[in-house]
Amino acid sequence: MLYTLPQLPYAYDALEPYIDRQTMELHHTKHHQGYINNLNAALEKYPELQEKTIDALLQEIHTIPEDIQTTVRNNGGGHLNHTLFWEWMKPQSSAEPQGRVALALKETFGEFARFQDSFNTAAKSVFGSGWAWLIVDAEGRLVIITTPNQDAPIMKQQKPILGLDVWEHAYYLKYQNRRPDYIGAWWHVVNWDRVETMYREIVG
Ligand code: MN
Repeated sequence: MLYTLPQLPYAYDALEPYIDRQTMELHHTKHHQGYINNLNAALEKYPELQEKTIDALLQEIHTIPEDIQTTVRNNGGGHLNHTLFWEWMKPQSSAEPQGRVALALKETFGEFARFQDSFNTAAKSVFGSGWAWLIVDAEGRLVIITTPNQDAPIMKQQKPILGLDVWEHAYYLKYQNRRPDYIGAWWHVVNWDRVETMYREIVG
């Protein structure tokens, strides 16, 4: 086994009522596990690729053999994105960030609510399946982006410090077609400590 499913840092029902237990359990044990299974299967006949980190595989996606490139892009991205996503949530989160990322957000977007509005707009605008992200670009600036499918920002050398899964599998059981309600609820479980740590690791 190359890649294995990481443990959630909290119980499946810990993010209730914002994200329900059944969604978390299916999302983790079926969807995330599925990406891992597909990724491992694709890498089976390429031992040299098995020594690379998931970040390296995706950063160098265009050098991956053609017969598995799309599989690695979709399922490697799915594995990395979800690994990060679980860490970006926690129960009893603080409503707003503290520390350096709070200052950087204020500098870039003005009041925190304006950042949230921009992020919400981006997340709502994803057509079909995809993600909304807050990334640090090559110049160290904070930028909100979206990606389709399971494309990972690192494929374009963009470093995410926060991301939101807006695939229907992330919310449909509880919110059905009401993606904006899911997005609004998700802010209650954002792990700002983790965002701060990742921001510091990138900007030094
Ligand atoms: Mn997902």
